Order: sequence, then C-alpha cells, then structure tokens
Amino acid sequence: MPDAPRPYDPACIFCRIGRGEAPASIVYRDADVIAFMDIRPVNPGHVLVVPIAHAGSLADLAEHDGQPMFSAAQRLAGAVRRSGARCDGVNLYLADGVAAGQEVFHVHLHVLPRFAGDGIRLAAFGRQQSPSHHAASWMGLRTQSAGRLAPRRI
Ligand SMILES: [Zn+2]
Repeated sequence: MPDAPRPYDPACIFCRIGRGEAPASIVYRDADVIAFMDIRPVNPGHVLVVPIAHAGSLADLAEHDGQPMFSAAQRLAGAVRRSGARCDGVNLYLADGVAAGQEVFHVHLHVLPRFAGDGIRLAAFGRQQSPSHHAASWMGLRTQSAGRLAPRRI
C-alpha cells in the first residue's frame, strides 16, 4: 500500500519552505525534516528544525515526525558548536501554543546557540514544592496519558 500523502497546508510558510516554494537559508534536509536559519535569529547560528509534514501543534504531530525532528536538532546542535559561531551552549526550544509563544503554527524546534552574557533567559522559575505537591500533578498526568505514555515505575 503506498504511503499516505504528507499533510500539507498551502497557506503555511513552513510547508511552502519544505516544498521549495518559499525561500529559506536551508542548512539541512532529509526525508522527514528540513532545517533553515531563523529569519529573526536570537543569536548567530539560530536554526529551526521543521518536520516536512504539516502539524500545527505537538498534539497534531505524529510521533514518527517528532523523532526525526529531535535527532536532526541533536546533529545541528553539534554542527553549530563546531561552526565557528559563538556557542558555549545550546538551548532546544519548542513553543507549543500561543501561550507558550508559538508564532508559526507548524511545529518547529529552535536550535539556539548560547554564550555567557548573551542576555537570553527564561525569566520565570517555579517555586520549590514538596513531594506531596508533585504527587497531585503526577496523578493528573497519569490519568490523562493512560495507555499513551506507559510511564516507568519509580
Ligand atoms: Zn505547515
């Protein structure tokens, strides 16, 4: 049986880049993902890794498209460290939903080179909680993910 066609949205700029219908500075491509320079780089070497198949959110992304995205991001993180760009560390950043800062609604993973004093930080940090607080959150996650995550016993 032939593979189903990949989800594609002609109004989506990342789908259009994936098909070569819109310009981008492409640094990597394989059968599942494409990576290109962010048009608004936070630091030099800032790359986006994008599944070729359209998925507006993580919930829409097939696992078989998420895994190659992360694998490509790992390889690109190594490449940016070796590239000569100022890079003492790397953040992988994925914004899922408006509240999380997602601006293009085609899942993408930022490979963000970092260096000391670059001024970038996630400004909010949680307050330390007791294990009893964790238990309440954990039970909710287990209920919602039943049969999908197969969490390990700890
Ligand atoms: Zn798309």
